[in-house]
Amino acid sequence: MRRIGAISFCDTLATHGRLAAICSLYNLCTMSNPPTPTAARIADEIMNVVDAHNANEPEFRQAVAEVIDSVASVVERHKKYRDAKILARLVEPERVIQFRVPWFDDENNVQVNRGWRVQFSSTLGPYKGGLRFHPSVNISVLKFLAFEQILKNSLTTLPLGGGKGGSDFDPKGKSDNEVMRFCESFMIELARHIGPDTDVPAGDIGVGVREIGFLFGQYKRLHNKWHGSLTGKAFGWGGSHMRPEATGYGVVYFADAMLKRNDDSLEGKTCIVSGSGNVAQFAAAQLLKQGATVVAMSDSGGCIHDKDGIDKEKLAWIIEQKNVKRGRIKEYVERYKQAEFIENGEDNSIWKLKADCAFPCATQNELVAADAKHLVNTDVKLVCEGANMPATAEAMHVLMESDVLYGPSKAANAGGVAVSGLEMMQNSMRLSWSAEEVDRRLREIMKSIHDACINAAEEYDLNASYVHGANIAGFKRVADAMIEQGVV
Ligand code: GLU
Repeated sequence: MRRIGAISFCDTLATHGRLAAICSLYNLCTMSNPPTPTAARIADEIMNVVDAHNANEPEFRQAVAEVIDSVASVVERHKKYRDAKILARLVEPERVIQFRVPWFDDENNVQVNRGWRVQFSSTLGPYKGGLRFHPSVNISVLKFLAFEQILKNSLTTLPLGGGKGGSDFDPKGKSDNEVMRFCESFMIELARHIGPDTDVPAGDIGVGVREIGFLFGQYKRLHNKWHGSLTGKAFGWGGSHMRPEATGYGVVYFADAMLKRNDDSLEGKTCIVSGSGNVAQFAAAQLLKQGATVVAMSDSGGCIHDKDGIDKEKLAWIIEQKNVKRGRIKEYVERYKQAEFIENGEDNSIWKLKADCAFPCATQNELVAADAKHLVNTDVKLVCEGANMPATAEAMHVLMESDVLYGPSKAANAGGVAVSGLEMMQNSMRLSWSAEEVDRRLREIMKSIHDACINAAEEYDLNASYVHGANIAGFKRVADAMIEQGVV
């Protein structure tokens, strides 16, 4: 290109004079060095493709748009990412598996559910991410979760790729035997796609230690191999200390790091924790340890507001109610009369209460723009996400425009998968670390994720935004590895 251009410059000078020659040189320069596309154009171009290819997948498009919004400026600055078409490759899953899950209920009726595993990225390690059993599960939800997982796992700095799976099966109201028969049927198909060096599922909503036990038992029977093909196992047979606590504790460690950076702490703060499942339970427990007061928790029916604080004993009641009795949080107010129950409704949600700190630990898109505005207007200091993508795009925007310290899920809730990574290490070495050792490593990982977010945001002049910082730091590690591994 340059040689042809040089000849044409000399030829033109000789035959048409100086001005024409300069014009031809200008053409040459613009041909060989096309202008760098702006971040806005990079984002538009990739989102046009993502929107067209995934028209019926709103959650997935929401998750991608949020990341692209942050990383387009990185791609603008580094030609190597554009040349390698990193964004176009990153938004396309390596593999999506869908399968039928037939099973017998207790009345001997045949039931049929849908099962999936989204193997999104194996750049940094075996696909890694949980299984979710919930009626709301569909391919859009699983692709968003798997996509988030790529960057979240990258932030942990452990060798973990990104994946997610699950089923529209609803464990609520099912007997243990029904859950077991469902898990066995699910694993008969999934088993051929996973393994300790290929894909290592774990739990998520609706999949806890009971389900992981049934899934692991069936996997072992099919492969005749006892190895770390799943994480979140019970401690007595290969699980890690602190795995149940990890996500909830990790969220609070992250919040603590955000506050410390501002010479503040959780001590004495009032906190709202949405949800009452695994993440919410241990977030609340760790908040109590740090001297905070938890004034509200919830489930899908509504929330309980206890101005006196949900202390250790009351939290133990909630945990028993949810994990053992598998009952509703509403019954709390019958036992603790000073508390009130607020049913979920148009204008009612846990986010209409007032507190110093808010921890959304229930599910995606649980916090909408009006909730975010209410939190900002009532002077919330910190919002730190335990659930995956709990704020809508509009709510995120409100929080990012405000002075609130805002910890996004892919950074703040990475503690769960981080300890899953530690469980994989322990399984490979056939040993088990003490709870203190795992907790120490978890704290270190959360602090290093916090610092990586701040450093990335500073490098790109993004005003210490944890949202942009998390996206950029997570993205760069994956993107550089993708370049090094060639076009795969
Ligand atoms: N489901 C959890 C998450 O959203 C944990 C995944 C894992 O441990 O693999 O990060």
